[in-house]
Amino acid sequence: MYYNENTIVYYKGNYIKAAEAKGNVYDQSLHYGYAVFEGIRAYNTEKGVKIFKAEEHYKRMQFSCEAVGIPYPFNNKELIDISYEVLKRNGFSDAYIRPLVTCTPNMTLCKGIESELLIAAWEWGAYLGDKMVNLKISSFRRPNPNAFAIEAKVSGHYVNSILASQEAKDAGFDEALLLDVNGFIAEGPGANFFVEKDHVLYTPSKGNILPGITRATVIEICQELEIELVEKQILPEEVLGADAAFFCGTAAEVAGIQSLDGIPFTKLWSESLGSTVQQAYKNKVLHKELKTSLQPA
Ligand code: PMP
Repeated sequence: MYYNENTIVYYKGNYIKAAEAKGNVYDQSLHYGYAVFEGIRAYNTEKGVKIFKAEEHYKRMQFSCEAVGIPYPFNNKELIDISYEVLKRNGFSDAYIRPLVTCTPNMTLCKGIESELLIAAWEWGAYLGDKMVNLKISSFRRPNPNAFAIEAKVSGHYVNSILASQEAKDAGFDEALLLDVNGFIAEGPGANFFVEKDHVLYTPSKGNILPGITRATVIEICQELEIELVEKQILPEEVLGADAAFFCGTAAEVAGIQSLDGIPFTKLWSESLGSTVQQAYKNKVLHKELKTSLQPA
């Protein structure tokens, strides 16, 4: 469960019990999926509880609201402080933080009149392990960027993610991999995708994906470790049977992919660039000085 009778959330300007939070059934957000949210992680690091890339997440939340006309009368620095306070009041250290901006009652199809903010959190231990996932190419495509503000993290977009993820699970896979409207690889329902071929990492270019904060962190890691990385349009044929692949996202962290449509990736995960990136990501979120334990001394 996400909360119990003692859980505290920040809602409409106050710290209150989650069980006592009251929404409005006429909210525009509830009816039309017209809301914006974030998914953020806090880690219990050697330097205490640290929210990873907090500024980037709240900046994206502001960008997402602005992209779809949801008022954003919030100060991101304050929101970071509030997030730490929510963690403190609940006694959480390894946790997932879920800010959500919703719009007040309005049944018309116009931009939000007024918005309300929830910041909830629940305990979520760092996984950062090596559980590999098996993917299926989804029959659902990512939304057309001409139809949606695709780079914004809008609640309604996640109907597409739910459809794709459930379809993959119903077919016995762990997760889906979605193509974009033009048939190129886009991303997972809640994570970005990287593939390794001949010691080079490739990831779909921006335009048809939610450009993740973890994706940006992986790109940063590649620069630091001098791993060659190419952003381009990738066809499914280029991925099937490639050396290795991984998903990355705030929730997924860096997760190795075992197979796509039943066809395994050929490299041992532990010998892949993804595994090196995974280790470096772990060090980053835990604020360890060491860049990667796989580098020679
Ligand atoms: N793509 C989609 C569709 C997502 O929902 C997410 C999760 N927010 C990501 C990619 C990864 O984004 P991030 O690294 O910012 O969590």
